[in-house]
Amino acid sequence: MREFDVAIIGGGIAGLSLAYFLAPHRSVAVIEREDGLGYHSTGRSAAEFVLRYNAPEVCELAAISKVFFDRPPEGFSDVALLKQRGGVMIANAEKTARLEAVFAEESAVNPDLKRLTVDEAIALVPILRRDYVAGAFYDPNFWDIEVDNLMQGYLRGARRHGAAIIERSDVLAPHRKDDRWVLATSAGDVSAKTIVNAAGGWADPVAELFGLAPIGIVPHRRTAITVDLPDGIDALTLPEINEIDEDFYMKPEGGRLLSSPADATPCEPADVQPEEIDVAWAAHYVEEATTVPVRRVFKSWAGMRSFAPDRLPVIGFARERPDFFWLAGQGGYGILTSPALGALAASLIVGTATPHGFEAASLDPSMFSPVRLEA
Ligand SMILES: Cc1cc2nc3c(=O)[nH]c(=O)nc-3n(C[C@H](O)[C@H](O)[C@H](O)COP(=O)(O)OP(=O)(O)OC[C@H]3O[C@@H](n4cnc5c(N)ncnc54)[C@H](O)[C@@H]3O)c2cc1C
Repeated sequence: MREFDVAIIGGGIAGLSLAYFLAPHRSVAVIEREDGLGYHSTGRSAAEFVLRYNAPEVCELAAISKVFFDRPPEGFSDVALLKQRGGVMIANAEKTARLEAVFAEESAVNPDLKRLTVDEAIALVPILRRDYVAGAFYDPNFWDIEVDNLMQGYLRGARRHGAAIIERSDVLAPHRKDDRWVLATSAGDVSAKTIVNAAGGWADPVAELFGLAPIGIVPHRRTAITVDLPDGIDALTLPEINEIDEDFYMKPEGGRLLSSPADATPCEPADVQPEEIDVAWAAHYVEEATTVPVRRVFKSWAGMRSFAPDRLPVIGFARERPDFFWLAGQGGYGILTSPALGALAASLIVGTATPHGFEAASLDPSMFSPVRLEA
């Protein structure tokens, strides 16, 4: 039996980022069900980094994370983790007043926004359809995340400090032995004092395996497709396109155009697959808002974005259970916030000071505690 201080269940970005920050201080095992890390949500994202996203707390977590992305520790990644892409918000004729309102609200906190005429918008994003776009503004603060490099950086750092990564191991029936948890894995039995629930869409069922009540983390399916870009369109420099109410978004991906209908359908945790109707909407928006002809859908996929009822991440020990730690509920921002959330989770487990940036941002880590959601 191999003994560890901490067993992290889930080898997505949450589990790996925590392993990275925790392994210098504790012996760590990451246990992943699939044959491959990042197989679920992490491998299916749009790989986008934005500073303005949903709740103000998430914006603060993004800002804290950006410091890490911009200057990761020596040897973490051979390439820059973020590549600036910029984004254009667009509205059709029915929504120009809405675009004005969002522009006024956002420019109060983001001085980088630039109002665009339709001609300017089309000059910047030549695939935009002139008979669709009636209003637009530009925000330089959109970046592509090099998700593979980020994952590999976390993984290498964790391994360098002795973390064990155990794949193809479904944590099914843990049991107690003395003051430790014993888990059967593909690499033999593993025992750990502390369990971390980094199981993404399965966070609630995993908690139940350990005798805890679910806290209401619900996976929501989101779909994306890619289609060919016409000749002469440079995917490297093409900005992201966002419908003003996030009815859809599009961005270059692997030399093609990714389109998502921004669906958010509650679902059971599973290896979710795209529904035909959502693929059709993704293709419809490409044809409605751009001049890109959808001759074929090159690839389509779906993944889970898992939310707690208040849509904030869930980070901390369960009430009266110092052996069970939640790292879940990262919704649609788990990759872009992984440096901040991984470091925060490690500091709470080790009992060290809150990581750099949280105090300056007036983010009290207790706001993310699962205790707020426990019955
Ligand atoms: C279409 C789409 C677009 C997105 N775009 C972005 C974006 O642009 N930027 C961004 O920051 N975020 C984005 N997200 C969200 C992001 O992908 C998630 O927040 C993040 O990947 C969650 O990571 P995770 O490690 O919690 O979950 P996962 O990557 O799902 O990892 C959880 C792991 O736990 C394992 N597991 C579960 N139960 C068990 C068990 N019993 N035993 C062993 N292993 C188990 C699973 O196999 C899984 O691999 C997007 C998501 C989707 C679907």
